[in-house]
Amino acid sequence: MPDLIDDYFQPGWRTRTVECAACEWRGDSRDMSLQPHEDLSEYLCPRCEDILLVVRHPDLARVREAAAAGHPEAIGQLALLEEYLQGRPGS
Ligand SMILES: [Zn+2]
Repeated sequence: MPDLIDDYFQPGWRTRTVECAACEWRGDSRDMSLQPHEDLSEYLCPRCEDILLVVRHPDLARVREAAAAGHPEAIGQLALLEEYLQGRPGS
């Protein structure tokens, strides 16, 4: 079973060592292969492609909340999101 990361902005999940149950590969998310989807991202074992981590994407309210709390990545994302929302045709 992959680990579900429910809160994208929780500290530590990127650098936490995970062991693959299928092939015993060990490493953290930076060494895994990333498969982004609309609502979540999957991190796959680089050796056997088992899914090791599932990370739910934050919604705009959650990004705002984390940015307000001073999370540097959230602040960056919020800037991008707002630029995107403002740049949308018809708005
Ligand atoms: Zn594996």
